[in-house]
Amino acid sequence: MQSTVHSGSEMRMKAMKSISFLFLIFSLSQGPAGAEVTSTIAAIEQLHRARRLIAYPEAIRQPRIALADRLALTIAFSKHVKKVSPHYLRTRRAWDLDAWISILERGFQAAPQDPDIAWSLAQIHINERRYSKALPIAEAFKQANPNHHHAVAWQIACNSLCDGTPLRSNPKNIRVMPVHFCVLTKNPTASQLATMDQCRQECEILNHNFRSSDGHALVEFSFKSFSSYAQIRNTQSDLIQYGDSVEPYDSNRVARAFNQCKDTQVRDPNAINFYIFDSHSDGPKFSDRTSHGKRNSNRPYLMLDWQRLGNNDQNAEAHEMGHCFGLGHVGVPGASKNSPTNIMTSAGEQFGSGGARTHGFTEAQIALILYHAKRTSRRLGITTQSN
Ligand SMILES: [Zn+2]
Repeated sequence: MQSTVHSGSEMRMKAMKSISFLFLIFSLSQGPAGAEVTSTIAAIEQLHRARRLIAYPEAIRQPRIALADRLALTIAFSKHVKKVSPHYLRTRRAWDLDAWISILERGFQAAPQDPDIAWSLAQIHINERRYSKALPIAEAFKQANPNHHHAVAWQIACNSLCDGTPLRSNPKNIRVMPVHFCVLTKNPTASQLATMDQCRQECEILNHNFRSSDGHALVEFSFKSFSSYAQIRNTQSDLIQYGDSVEPYDSNRVARAFNQCKDTQVRDPNAINFYIFDSHSDGPKFSDRTSHGKRNSNRPYLMLDWQRLGNNDQNAEAHEMGHCFGLGHVGVPGASKNSPTNIMTSAGEQFGSGGARTHGFTEAQIALILYHAKRTSRRLGITTQSN
């Protein structure tokens, strides 16, 4: 998905907001519950997002906070915590996770039905491989949100694992995901690059990069078929218009066109579909490289800008495939362009750069990948597993 950089105005206001924040903390500790905590949260939300991870615990630690105020602050805090993890960077920095756990556990006891608190707390424990601690949280999360995929996937994982065990696919029984490639763009340079051989190479790139943080394969991507632009240029499918569209990308419209497509050269109903297209946006025009991945109710497809073929920019193939398996964006505070960040990191989360996205998936992400791999196999009618 497209990455954006946090606004300059946010940075310029930082010092001023910090001062007003301290004042609000003081008034919060003196006053009744309600309006003050709303103002405090509003002030903290004006800070740079990485700074909010420090400001909320400071506010929550104030001694005379009403329980309702503490809970409101904890919920606001948890919305940021669920986007970050010390496991999202190869070089682990100092994280005061124990303090975060303490805050979140107190919040969980007060509001076990809150999805943000449960998500953030369960995720910390799962990433630390403390499944027995995560299980009751995942169960409460699922009970309050029975259709929430994270809740279901994490409950399954926690139920099946002993503490300290990495969550992995059995290498002798790994799920094979066939991939159909289709060149949607009429750009002749794209067609020169997006050959069948290159698409076979794209599968190898995925197999090399779509891995756990310690390098284990989670599924196996298998090249199935390839359609060139020349083969599909006269298709009746609306999907072809998105190969070179100058309209802003509309995820729902593309999904509708994909789901209605009956042309099996364009959309293979029994494979993950991987489209090579030419992304466009107002500024860079067709130099834009934005790419997309969508789980699409377990009929996933990926749209890779042709300029990103060959994995030449921010591990785009594995990142977009992560979206295909239900993963959202995460952030790494202070990440720079070359930081070895988690595959799903995005500057759009406003913690820092998206980084290089070369660091593999965490246990909590793997639980979701394996859960959706099973659902996707079933939805697409895939039965193959490697030997
Ligand atoms: Zn993305």
